[in-house]
This record gives sequence, structure tokens and C-alpha cells, in this order.
Amino acid sequence: MKPKIILPIILFTMIFFVLYFAYPLNGIPAASRTNHFTSDSLINKDESTMKTMNLTEEEWKQRLTPEQYSVLREKGTERPFTGLYWDNHEQGTYKCAACGSELFSSDTKFDSGCGWPSFYDVSSSSAIELKKDSSFGMIRFEVICKKCGSHLGHVFDDGPQPTHLRYCINSASLDFKKEEKKHNP
Ligand code: FE
Repeated sequence: MKPKIILPIILFTMIFFVLYFAYPLNGIPAASRTNHFTSDSLINKDESTMKTMNLTEEEWKQRLTPEQYSVLREKGTERPFTGLYWDNHEQGTYKCAACGSELFSSDTKFDSGCGWPSFYDVSSSSAIELKKDSSFGMIRFEVICKKCGSHLGHVFDDGPQPTHLRYCINSASLDFKKEEKKHNP
């Protein structure tokens, strides 16, 4: 092969790999994708810190509906625009459907248009853990309930201010408690 041809091939290959790693399949540049995950402590490094509820899979099946079990325990994803809460605009608190741990407030819920309940922040950073998820050819961060180890959804860095995060959570993973209206005497 002539050197004239080899040089463009090498250059093209290098450019391809640089672009591929900078812009993976989900279209979010790796550099900016991790910029907003400032709470590095959220990323789980030790599996033993989770799953304080040591239920067997059989016990989980008895506690949860088949859809909840599929999402929470088998990391399933409900179809967009089908869940109970993607279009819920009521004030209240979203708890883990598996263990009741408080996860999100309606104050941080926003309409992302993705078809799943979306929040720009968690109620408490101690309520969840993040785990790098490389499935389906994408690099994402899985959101896990810290108390029971159940799968909730994923978090992306294309959310609104002030966090720029979008916690994209399955309705099946959540249990909504409507805020009681305060009555004036
Ligand atoms: Fe939980």
C-alpha cells in the first residue's frame, strides 16, 4: 500500500476512535456527562453497604406486584408514558415501592417529556446510590435505593438547574404519598 493512502487511513481511524469515546451511543459527551456527578460519594464502590433488607427473591415476589418485581428486582424498565406518575402534578413525597424509604419530593419533579417521572434532585443523598451501567452499549448511571438495593431508574446530566441532573425513575419503583392539605383553624 502506498504511504499516500496509509496516512489518511490512520488519521481517519484515530478521529473515529476519539469521537466514538467522546460521544458514545447516548449522545452525551463523556467529559460533560460526569461533570455534574459532583456527589462522588453517591457512586457505590462497595456492594456490602447496600441491601440492608436481606429478603429472599421469593419474599420479594410476595411483597411486590409482578410489574414492581420486574423493575425493582430485575432492573426492568416500564414503557414510557404508561406509569402512574410520569404525569402526576400533585404535591407530595415519592417513596421506594419496595421498602418505603423517602426518595424524591414533588418540589424537584419536572416535565422532561421522556415519559417517566423525572426529578432534578433526591430528597436526601443518603437515600440512593449510583452504579455505573454499561448495558445496551451505553454508559449510564443506575439509581439504586440504598436501603433495600432495588433498581429505581437512571440519572443523566441533561436536567434543569440547579443540579443539571435528570433522575429518570420508573413509576413502578415509586409509591406516592400525597401531601395533606393544611387546614386553617
Ligand atoms: Fe428501597
